[in-house]
Amino acid sequence: MTFAKKFISHVREIYETDEFIPLHEPKFIGNEKKYVTDTIDSTFVSTAGKYVEAFEQNIAEYVGAKHAIATVNGTSALHMALVLAGVTNGDLVITQSFTFVATCNAVRYCGADPVFVDIDKLGLGMSPHALEEYLTSQTIMKDGQCIHVESGRRIKACVPMHTFGNPVDMDKIISICKRFSVFIVEDAAESLGSMYKGHHTCTFGELGILSFNGNKIITTGGGGMIITNNDELAVKAKYLTTTAKIAHKWNYVHDIVGYNYRMPNLNAALGCAQIENLALFVDKKRQLADKYSSWSRENGINFFQESEMSKSNYWLNAIILDDEKERDAFLKETNDNGVMTRPSWEPMHRLSMYKECFCGSLNNTELMAARIVNIPSSVI
Ligand SMILES: *Cc1c(COP(=O)(O)O)cnc(C)c1O
Repeated sequence: MTFAKKFISHVREIYETDEFIPLHEPKFIGNEKKYVTDTIDSTFVSTAGKYVEAFEQNIAEYVGAKHAIATVNGTSALHMALVLAGVTNGDLVITQSFTFVATCNAVRYCGADPVFVDIDKLGLGMSPHALEEYLTSQTIMKDGQCIHVESGRRIKACVPMHTFGNPVDMDKIISICKRFSVFIVEDAAESLGSMYKGHHTCTFGELGILSFNGNKIITTGGGGMIITNNDELAVKAKYLTTTAKIAHKWNYVHDIVGYNYRMPNLNAALGCAQIENLALFVDKKRQLADKYSSWSRENGINFFQESEMSKSNYWLNAIILDDEKERDAFLKETNDNGVMTRPSWEPMHRLSMYKECFCGSLNNTELMAARIVNIPSSVI
């Protein structure tokens, strides 16, 4: 029996079905219908209503942050967080090539360009070592700003991403960014519920973002959140994402070009119901990861484990195969047999829009992008 066949029967045992098994589907087992119906009955389905504020409060409380500002999706949250970080035209933003395209697109929306540094081979997130080496060798400090020597451009921000829910080594990233006066925006789109040294991811940077897309650990249909402990940034975030309208009962006066990035009340209602089960989802996902982990050990397969001092939400489980050829054969056999699996994203530095961007050595990115396979990870 091929390894893929063994895998397929293991997944079918776990999910107890002979039908198609998706990579990740949402679970609606609580008050979703009740709260969504409530918004319809109240007519407040759009830009006003009580659920947006309630959802913001629920999230802030859950992650232990002072402020949470809801947005229409994770990409817009990231865009706004970068604007709030002061990223503007011509700036550079350091991030990882091994990420979802939204991370880089948000940088471009600001008129800036991403710079890619390598990932940690075990953790799959930004490597503190690669970041430090890049900043040390490629930049100088000038008037308190980090300047990229080759281009003369400012490196304004750094966006580490917690890949598949596994926390990046934030202490090291923070201390490096401090030394180089680089603002941290944490892309925690995949890691709601994950902890690093006892604190939630998304609370380490000056700003963090979450996503509630349909495939994330909890969903609002589409949605995102900006997280910060900074009062001033929180006020600005709300203002900027809600068309920058000067508060007044009837007058419509705006004083900067704002964005219509607010989360509709209808979506927030779904979120309020989903977050009631978030702790349960995290537990169940960790149990599923345990199952995959022991099965992988018994079968000599390399299963992607959470990093030290971290607690991953195991949003997407992953196995690491030996090479591209083995990966492709596995992808074909599993998908042909109704068990959805997926390779990692094509790394950003290979996409046509980003292939001219500055980058450090990307050996681990190349190596892991050829070997990673995401496997079914829905909550059972
Ligand atoms: C999902 C995701 C986002 C944002 O996604 P939206 O679909 O816009 O909510 C951003 N970064 C990463 C790494 C993601 O996985």
